[in-house]
Amino acid sequence: MKWHYQQPVEIYFGNDERFRLGEIAEKLGVTRAVLVCDRILATNGTVQDLIDRTGNLIAAVYDKGKPNPTVKNVDECAELIRNTNADFVVAIGGGSSMDCAKAAAVIAPLAESITVYHGTGVSLPAGGLPIIQIPSTAGTGSEVTAVSVLTNEEKGFKAPLASPAFYAAAAIVDPVITWSMPPHVTAITGLDVLSHAIEGYQSRNNQPITDLFCLEAARLVFRHLRAACVSPASTEAREQMAQASLLAGLGFNLPKTGPSHACSFVLTNRYGIPHGEACALTLDSFLEIIAQGDDGRMNEFATACGFADAAAMAEEIRALKRDLGVRLNLKDLNLDAAALQDLIRDSQHPNMLNSPVEITDEMLRKMYESML
Ligand code: ZN
Repeated sequence: MKWHYQQPVEIYFGNDERFRLGEIAEKLGVTRAVLVCDRILATNGTVQDLIDRTGNLIAAVYDKGKPNPTVKNVDECAELIRNTNADFVVAIGGGSSMDCAKAAAVIAPLAESITVYHGTGVSLPAGGLPIIQIPSTAGTGSEVTAVSVLTNEEKGFKAPLASPAFYAAAAIVDPVITWSMPPHVTAITGLDVLSHAIEGYQSRNNQPITDLFCLEAARLVFRHLRAACVSPASTEAREQMAQASLLAGLGFNLPKTGPSHACSFVLTNRYGIPHGEACALTLDSFLEIIAQGDDGRMNEFATACGFADAAAMAEEIRALKRDLGVRLNLKDLNLDAAALQDLIRDSQHPNMLNSPVEITDEMLRKMYESML
């Protein structure tokens, strides 16, 4: 057995820890930031509150990123960083803002477009400006990963870009920011966490340290996601889900995600299904398929999560989706034979190769047909 583990991000966790931003910046020796966020956080007081408490640290705010951030967003943000002479970048938001910030912080000093690197196979150079990530959902785990998922609208593709340069200098995980997330967003982002945990563990590239993170993350989701959705004011459930998201991020960062994420890219791009919901759609099906051919690993995982076996865990995932009002099939899309064929072809994204069991087109057809 050979494996390599790396995790360079300094992590601060806890209620109201976001207000330590100034102190953390001082420790990093940086003084002037561009803050990347979405319009909701820019206007609901969350960002203003942070600006008010950190003196002159935030020189400019970039809030024009799309929910699936584009290469154009990254280039605009990098331009703003250059024009304001910022020496670091803060992101507060979901995966969209954090992923945009990662790419912008790295290309800002290069004065290049991210399109030189995105989807081209050209490696990003080391360096870039320090990044402080503050997630607002529980969530993508993007605060501790080295991946930025970007969309090139002109060329019509969405793809992850990975580079060690994307690691944040610090991540501040403050559950208080997630308190205002509506139940449906809590549900689908929480199911994304579960997908990261299960797929990180399932991955061909699994390793002992990340296994532990994945396992604990899944346990926390099964225990706390319903409460976080049913009673958004449950600060205990919110705290545990924020922890689950962080642990799942640490868990899948190196092994990478698998079949459900592979399918999610086309489901999101073509049919507008939100990321976490798209991942959850196929999570239970793949769990059952993989558990039949993985030498018992997923049954062990399920047992450690308190289930009789992987089939019982898959049943609980279906129950979770039903209870939380999340999509269970593709009936409303009225897919014809040609659309189904395209969906099968495009689901064979490179992440599919991380599955320990080969996922054939026939398996995908059977799975998708059961959803029509
Ligand atoms: Zn995900």
